[in-house]
Amino acid sequence: SNRLAGKTALVTAAAQGIGRASVEKFAAEGAKVIATDINLAKLEGFPAGVVTRRLDVMNADEIARAAAEIGAVDVLLNCAGVVHGGSVLECSEEDFDFAVTLNMRGAYRMIKAFLPGMLQKGQGSIINIASVASSIKGVPNRFIYGTTKAGLIGLTKAVAADFIGKGIRCNAVCPGTVQTPSLDERINANPDAEAARKAFIARQPMGRLGRPEEIADICVYLASDESAFTTGTEFIIDGGMTL
Ligand code: NAD
Repeated sequence: SNRLAGKTALVTAAAQGIGRASVEKFAAEGAKVIATDINLAKLEGFPAGVVTRRLDVMNADEIARAAAEIGAVDVLLNCAGVVHGGSVLECSEEDFDFAVTLNMRGAYRMIKAFLPGMLQKGQGSIINIASVASSIKGVPNRFIYGTTKAGLIGLTKAVAADFIGKGIRCNAVCPGTVQTPSLDERINANPDAEAARKAFIARQPMGRLGRPEEIADICVYLASDESAFTTGTEFIIDGGMTL
């Protein structure tokens, strides 16, 4: 414990899934954590000391206000993202814009708002939750999801390259299929939910889904000084999905 002592970490999409697990692990490692989400009803029940606040990463004004009120952070975990199903033929203009705005522009806006504080401190770790469904692997029926997660990986490397000499690191985490509430929603949206769950598990050569805590462990590592020599990477944690 205390691997993140003295650090302040801001997490987006912290109400459930990977974001929530990361908040809990960050706090357990001694970080001061600001847990944010648009779902305030679920943004509770955290360990003592975790600060919560509403933050919609699709809303530039809210981001600017949050950055002004929170000040400098050491760790920014950009976890907010949305999954649209379908191929290019099913992707509407609205889906396209929504996915780009949430999955890519959200990280762009958050980094633009919080990087100046990191630069003032002379240190910072930015972690973007991408996916193996991205530039790493073409996954069927994940057209705009994979497209925007690939963009997020490019964004990660660009930021890493621009600020490598300023104490700033920026890494992407690329999970395979992880057991989270939104995965359950995607599964239950199928007429045969049991078959859908089996199909998701079948994508994972390890024969099981990932756990949010396993992804959070990587986020702790990338947030901590243990990973001081690591920037611009695509950290794959996928149960062998891309093996
Ligand atoms: P989830 O999808 O179950 O929860 C997402 C959270 O994001 C919710 O609490 C929701 O309220 C919040 N959110 C939605 N829109 C928001 C916005 N505009 N601003 C702030 N918060 C918003 O959680 P998850 O499945 O752990 O996914 C988290 C991230 O991990 C996403 O970027 C997702 O693409 C990525 N990911 C998930 C998996 C998986 O299998 N679950 C795999 C690879 C990558």
